[in-house]
Amino acid sequence: MGEIDLSGVGMTSQRTRNRLINRLLDQGITDQRILDVINSTPRHLFVDEALSHRAYEDMALPIGFNQTISQPYMVARMTELLLATGPLSRVLEVGTGSGYQATILAQLVKKVYTVERIEKLLEQAVRRFKLLRLWNISHRHADGGMGWPEKGPFDGIMVTAAPMSIPEELIRQLAPGGRMVVPLGSGGVQDLVMVTREKSGPGVTTEVMDKVRFVPLLSGKV
Ligand code: SAH
Repeated sequence: MGEIDLSGVGMTSQRTRNRLINRLLDQGITDQRILDVINSTPRHLFVDEALSHRAYEDMALPIGFNQTISQPYMVARMTELLLATGPLSRVLEVGTGSGYQATILAQLVKKVYTVERIEKLLEQAVRRFKLLRLWNISHRHADGGMGWPEKGPFDGIMVTAAPMSIPEELIRQLAPGGRMVVPLGSGGVQDLVMVTREKSGPGVTTEVMDKVRFVPLLSGKV
C-alpha cells in the first residue's frame, strides 16, 4: 500500500482534471464556483484504485454493491440547479454512494446531511470525508426516502437515486421556498425534476429539467 495521493499524478494529474473542466464548460456548466470545486476535488479517491486512472473521465463508474459514482457532468448540473437561486445553508442528499456529490456540496453550502441505505458504502464515504477534513457533513445509515426529519427542514434536497414518484416525506422536509432536484421514473431513462416549495403554504411546483440515468431508489437498509 502506497501513501494516499491527494494531488494526483499521471492519469489523475492536474492536466487530466483540466480536460474534465473543459468538457463541463463545453456542456454548458457556467457556475465558476462549482467548476473550481470539481477541479480541486480528488475524484480518484472516490473509486477503487484499479479505476483511478479513469476518475477524471466524464462518466459514471462502478463503486460496488451494484451502485455507481455519478458522472461529473450530472454532479455539476444537479449542483448548479440546486444552487441557482443563491447560497444554501442546509442541504439533504439522499444516496451518499461514494460520497463524491456530498463532498462537492460540502464545499459550496454550510451544512450537508447525507443518507445512505448500504452501510458498507456509507462507511467508505465517511472515511473519505475525514481524509478530506470535511467536518460539515453529517451522515446517517437509513432509508433516505424518509428523509431525515430530525434535521429538517432543508432549503435544498438532492436525490441521487430515482424514485417512481416524489416521496411525500421529502416534500414535507423542504423549507418554504426550498428546492429539490430528483430523478423521477423507472427504467433506463428518467426525468430530472426540479421541485420548488411555495414560500407560504404546502404547495409545490415541478419542472422537468433534463433526461437522466440513475439507479433506482430502493426501500429499507442493508
Ligand atoms: N451520490 C452518489 C451516487 C449515487 S448512486 C455519489 O456521489 O457517489 C445512488 C446511491 O443511492 C447508492 O449508493 C444507493 O445505495 C443509494 N440509495 C438507493 N436507494 C436509497 C434509499 N432509499 N435511501 C438511501 N440511499 C439510497
